[in-house]
Amino acid sequence: MQLAKRVESITPSSTLAITAKAGELKAQGYDVIGLGAGQPDFNTPKFIIDAAMEAANAGHTKYTPTAGLPELKEAIIGKLKRDQGFNYDKSQIIVGNGAKHVLYLLFQALLNPGDEVIIPAPYWVSYPEQVKLAGGVPVTITTTEEKHFKIRVEDLEQVVTSRTKALILSSPSNPTGMIYSKEELESIAAFCIAHDILIVSDEIYEKLVYNGNVFYSIAQISEEVQAHTVIINGVSKSHSMTGWRIGYAAGDQVLIKAMTNVASHSTSNPASVSQYATIAAYNGPQESIETMRQAFEKRLNTIFPRLSELPGITCVKPQGAFYLFPNIRKMSESCGFAHVSDWVTALLDEEKVAVVPGAGFGMPDFIRLSYATSLENLENALDRIEHFIQKHI
Ligand code: PLP
Repeated sequence: MQLAKRVESITPSSTLAITAKAGELKAQGYDVIGLGAGQPDFNTPKFIIDAAMEAANAGHTKYTPTAGLPELKEAIIGKLKRDQGFNYDKSQIIVGNGAKHVLYLLFQALLNPGDEVIIPAPYWVSYPEQVKLAGGVPVTITTTEEKHFKIRVEDLEQVVTSRTKALILSSPSNPTGMIYSKEELESIAAFCIAHDILIVSDEIYEKLVYNGNVFYSIAQISEEVQAHTVIINGVSKSHSMTGWRIGYAAGDQVLIKAMTNVASHSTSNPASVSQYATIAAYNGPQESIETMRQAFEKRLNTIFPRLSELPGITCVKPQGAFYLFPNIRKMSESCGFAHVSDWVTALLDEEKVAVVPGAGFGMPDFIRLSYATSLENLENALDRIEHFIQKHI
């Protein structure tokens, strides 16, 4: 069958692919440790689940407005005010089926064929593919470990053209866990305003910051920067609600309206019951966020020293999110593998540990390990990785 050119140019999500392969091995009875997952391993807090059940029992099971229930928009506006002091109007908010869907709507609403979107690499796997699906051109800036995987204005100057329409920032970053400071963001924001570039600020890991590091939203710099920014966020990572599929965008009302139009002809509203759950998540007690954050912090501080001491590996210590992103090229070569992706495949085959090769994030010398699993699993996985390296080196 002759498929559309648009789908021929995109690659399937490498994170979902490795998770699927690990799942297959598990189903065959193997004891697989999965470090591929991009989701917290905690249950959704009970009061959120209760709110969803109450909503369902009360008959809130019908269509809602496409961009979300007014009460949910109020709850999101309340969260944005509480956490960053922002003022948003309901017309500036759209709720979608997860942050991923909201990003998809954004690029569909924003890009004309040939419009360019600057994406720092390593990047979250879906950014370039979503830009391409909308007819846009992803323009990547490859960052380095030495600069802690962050871009600077000099880098932007090298790639900006008259077609540049947007810049995507992920902070705390998936996959590196790096967080941009206020000062770093100020110079990037000034550049974007001067070149009339929309800043897409993906803040989905906002609540997961460790060891005294702080999250700062680029839109907090000034009202002018806020007007040039669309914030992307949701409850997947903060409230361990990946399966409920709720994310939102906050930004310019013309853009939000266009995104709503696209949603109105594709998905309509996100699940009504999930919306009620999210109202509870944002308006209810926030303690569970801190409990989960502390668990992630403990895991990071336990496994990071062990990982970074492995021979031939370098790893910048993450400040947030729940991933480690080591450069394993030297080690993988010493083990006799031509490509890091071959090392990853052999590790899964021989030791039954699933990690994600860095190629899908735009950095083929690296791998991504998620620590969204128990400390016991993490320690076990490191034992197996050590064993694997000793065997091959
Ligand atoms: N943005 C980043 C950087 C992510 O890592 C993810 C999920 O892995 C998302 C967005 C999408 O989250 P969701 O669609 O579950 O809200």
